[in-house]
Amino acid sequence: MSEVRVRFAPSPTGYLHIGGVRTALFNWLWARRHGGSFILRIEDTDVDRNLRESTSVILESMRWLGLDWDEGPEVGGPHGPYFQSERLELYRAYAERLVATGHAFRCYATREEVEAARAAHEARGGRDFRFVSPWRDGRRPPPHSDAPYAIRLRAPRTGSTGFVDLVKGRIDVPNEQQQDFVLLRQNGLPLYNFACVVDDVEMGITLVARGDDHVVNTPPQLLLYEALGRTPPRFAHLPMILGQDGKKLSKRDGAVSTTEYRDAGYLPDALLNYLARLGWSHGDQEVFRRDELVALFDWSRVGATAARWDPKKLAYIQAEHLRALSDARIAELAMPFLERAGLRPDRRTLEAAVATVRTRAVTLVDVADMVDFYFREPPRIDEQAAARFLVESTRAAREELAALLETVEPFDAATLEARVHQWLQQTGRSLKQVAQPARVALTGRTASPGLFEVMAVLGKERTVARLRAADPRPSQLTSTGG
Ligand code: GLU
Repeated sequence: MSEVRVRFAPSPTGYLHIGGVRTALFNWLWARRHGGSFILRIEDTDVDRNLRESTSVILESMRWLGLDWDEGPEVGGPHGPYFQSERLELYRAYAERLVATGHAFRCYATREEVEAARAAHEARGGRDFRFVSPWRDGRRPPPHSDAPYAIRLRAPRTGSTGFVDLVKGRIDVPNEQQQDFVLLRQNGLPLYNFACVVDDVEMGITLVARGDDHVVNTPPQLLLYEALGRTPPRFAHLPMILGQDGKKLSKRDGAVSTTEYRDAGYLPDALLNYLARLGWSHGDQEVFRRDELVALFDWSRVGATAARWDPKKLAYIQAEHLRALSDARIAELAMPFLERAGLRPDRRTLEAAVATVRTRAVTLVDVADMVDFYFREPPRIDEQAAARFLVESTRAAREELAALLETVEPFDAATLEARVHQWLQQTGRSLKQVAQPARVALTGRTASPGLFEVMAVLGKERTVARLRAADPRPSQLTSTGG
């Protein structure tokens, strides 16, 4: 096989849509699997929404996901620039060449003339309007010497255009359905189909994988390859991702932008794993490391039907990826979320704290929430829990426990457990009497990691101080815990 060269070509729309990430991922996997090149190209000729800012969100999202590109913005490459808005001369040159070879023509029709033709067509009850330019046959002269013109393809009227899609199989479209579509507008800006083909040719793209909303664009693009005398790449059109309601995935279904998942504490590898499984399969396996995806990905296992977004499955895969990380790595990744909450934990304590919550957390936000009490002084205390357990009737037990704990050495979970049980036996108290008041005093909540683990992570000084703290006044309370 010749070198694999694939691309991801987003338009800057303000964010990187999660569906776009799957397109990027499949291309990236294919390039990495074959030691090929993954090219990032920004399709920003639609000047209305060409915002540098939204491009930087795309780059930032791609970087966070670890979908590194071999050529493109910021990294450069031999086929740059990688912003279509900076390649206008190239499109002009290609368009003029197609005019010179007779495959395209200058069309001087004004917008009003095209609209009048459309209105007349519709008045006759016609559908599927296709403008037939009076300049198509090449005999009519320009209206005047410097009249503005668009450049249109001289599309064939007979025969058909087809290709074998790697996902959808054979697709053929009769050429009578094609039109003399515009390559360059009067203002010199290229239309998508044209700029896309010029760039795919120039960048030596061997396979185009994109959403199947583009499947209608492939036959016209194939006409352009033919007109240019170039061999087209292979094509793979990926079925849409649907929301729970069976419609195209949208904000109704929750977050659709990549940075929202980052900010919600998902791991890039988990998100990519989930997206890979949305439309691709490898037996019954659900959880894949990134290197496994690279080794296993193949177009033949991409399904032809649309897949539904399933937040529960995403959470399951996320939890699996989180569990596969070491305490140290989770601590490192959770640190920014704790900082966002105004906490500055020391790294070693955070690692120990992570070890106590890691099996119950799904996202890094969960980790940060669950360890919050270790690092906040005083801890946030749930109002209902306090009203029930941090009351006069439990004070003596808490104070006696604090006095006992002052004498425990070493202050680790096993020693603590042994000494506390011994003390319960000696004093005739039950664990039930002591455990919940202690838990609420230490963690602010009625559910927490194991009590002795919590004590060990907090350390003697803070454990004792929290057990002895005055019962909270309303200002210290929160009703969000639990
Ligand atoms: N800019 C197009 C999009 O964002 C790219 C389509 C393609 O990959 O050809 O949908």
